[in-house]
Amino acid sequence: SAAPLGHSVIPIVNKLQDIFAQLGSQSTIELPQVAVVGSQSSGKSSVLESLVGRDFLPRGNEICTRRPLVLQLLQTKRKPDGTEEEYGEFLHLPGKRFYDFSEIRREIQAETEREAGGNKGVSDKQIRLKIFSPNVLDITLVDLPGLTKVPVGDQPSDIEARIRTMIMSYIKVQSCLILAVTPANSDLANSDALQMAGMADPDGHRTIGIITKLDIMDRGTDARNLLLGKVIPLRLGYVGVVNRSQEDIMLNRSIKDALVAEENFFRSRPVYNGLADRCGVPQLAKKLNQILVQHIKAVLPGLKSRISTALVSVAKEHASYGELTESKAGQGALLLNILSKYSDAFSSMVEGKNEEMSTS
Ligand code: GDP
Ligand code: MG
Repeated sequence: SAAPLGHSVIPIVNKLQDIFAQLGSQSTIELPQVAVVGSQSSGKSSVLESLVGRDFLPRGNEICTRRPLVLQLLQTKRKPDGTEEEYGEFLHLPGKRFYDFSEIRREIQAETEREAGGNKGVSDKQIRLKIFSPNVLDITLVDLPGLTKVPVGDQPSDIEARIRTMIMSYIKVQSCLILAVTPANSDLANSDALQMAGMADPDGHRTIGIITKLDIMDRGTDARNLLLGKVIPLRLGYVGVVNRSQEDIMLNRSIKDALVAEENFFRSRPVYNGLADRCGVPQLAKKLNQILVQHIKAVLPGLKSRISTALVSVAKEHASYGELTESKAGQGALLLNILSKYSDAFSSMVEGKNEEMSTS
């Protein structure tokens, strides 16, 4: 099966992403990640939170996500005594482990305000957060501000164009998987998510449609035809979900209860019979993992050559330090070392020397 490949490749991909982010040169390497697109309040942060299975993202019925949040999920082993440890760590607070997920949310909010102010301002400067947990898939997710049309608070008059440009900078990357989120209670033909995803990925090779808010559709309507792709076809198809409502958030309803409620929702509605593989967050997680594994397999050769190129230029730079300050030379050497290590790991995987790959 393809699952072991995901386990062995993605940690390396995440590590590389970190190294390059620290260097401030993210754009030199395009790595697979998953980004959410959609209108404001369509349910993007809610979907990501459900995928992670923990409450930690600012969500609500006005603008909450105001900076891109790059979220690396890293699967850890359960402890021998069966207990599990889940924590988050921010790139801007290295070494500080957050075991309380509501504290993570507060830190996201505080860090958002540090950069984008307190009055609805939006910034394209990333917040980078790692979540370590035995309960997650190894995957990198990007939560993005939603599309809006009318400036509010401190937002500039060209806010719509700015947010579009920001979203585009993520989803235009050929290796980025796009979760295009549209609420079921709006018209799919008016979907900002599908419109932007269609521009970034015209062939639809890397766009998954997500229909949220199935629970609050107009009485007498349902999402069956949407999920079947009969309204707007999408190559990778659609998944319908039921997230928590604003009232559920105010009542502090747990994510676990919400997942049970979602399952009951689909089970109790005959109209969704036979669509089990298109219904619910667990199905979305499954679909994502499958697509991601296929995707990584396809991009590995290109990634390998880009890493080699980066290695050569780092080596040159290192050589050119010559008699320069010790710390800088040391930094270069360290980086070179780390990069070689990961490049070697990549090479052996690409060339099939890796145990897990040679079985396939
Ligand atoms: P974002 O702006 O796209 O990130 O959207 P959020 O995840 O912050 O959600 C916006 C609002 O919609 C919140 O009040 C959520 O509780 C609510 N919401 C999101 N998904 C659903 C859903 O499936 N059903 C219901 N009833 N409410 C939802
Ligand atoms: Mg959001």
